[in-house]
Amino acid sequence: MESTITECPFCGGEGVLCSTKGKYGYFVFVQCSFCGAQGKTYSIGKDRDEDWAESIPSDNAVKAWNTRVGDRNG
Ligand SMILES: [Zn+2]
Repeated sequence: MESTITECPFCGGEGVLCSTKGKYGYFVFVQCSFCGAQGKTYSIGKDRDEDWAESIPSDNAVKAWNTRVGDRNG
């Protein structure tokens, strides 16, 4: 599974797929490496395996970020 992460809708910076451990497990999201803008988060479960970046939630996080860019008006 491979999706291209589009540039940040706010500053044009590079979007990076990140994961973090929350209260109920791990989450994935795309974050701008420049301004820190963050896309929608998706749960990847209690444990994070090696190929978490290839998982469906990660792909959804990328799509959500990309959609947000597409939704920008003016
Ligand atoms: Zn940005």
